[in-house]
Amino acid sequence: NASLDRALGLVREVPDFPEPGVLFRDLSPVLADADAFRAVTDALVAALPPGIDTVVAIEARGFLFGAAMAVTAGLGLVAVRKPGKLPAVADRVTYALEYGTATLELPADTLAPGARVVVVDDVLATGGTVEATAGLVARAGAHTDAVAVVIELAGLNGRSRLPGGAPVTALLTV
Ligand code: 5GP
Repeated sequence: NASLDRALGLVREVPDFPEPGVLFRDLSPVLADADAFRAVTDALVAALPPGIDTVVAIEARGFLFGAAMAVTAGLGLVAVRKPGKLPAVADRVTYALEYGTATLELPADTLAPGARVVVVDDVLATGGTVEATAGLVARAGAHTDAVAVVIELAGLNGRSRLPGGAPVTALLTV
């Protein structure tokens, strides 16, 4: 697919961000290009398994692709947020980062028990963020049927931490 290849070619590699030794993949140029954003969104939607009814998108860059997928595919959107942003919280999870911890919160009255979910983020790195989000989905009585990311950093083996059986779609593996 030529338009998807072109879109993924717009990903910018930024050395030493956010800290020395890290090669950061910046999706800003993809979002800024109308055809590229459309191509990436369509490819993520095309890979969804049947029966999904809800996008669970992770703050902040997951919101961009998750919202586009939700509108394109006609799905509901649940925005999982960093702490202190939501006025009404159903549940929260704290998980380990390389240095320190992070917390994510599920908004109240959004995720119905039995919902069939795709968890969306921009990049799958160690998998800790998606794993934590899938934990919130499970505790709400919903099911993570799929994980969708634009880029997977394969060397970190994030896939191995994800809920058993949920297929992972990554448009670009680096
Ligand atoms: P994790 O290690 O939990 O899989 O990734 C942590 C978070 O950092 C994810 O939300 C992911 O989007 C972000 N992240 C990690 N590495 C990169 C990167 O190279 N580029 C971008 N855009 N995000 C990254």
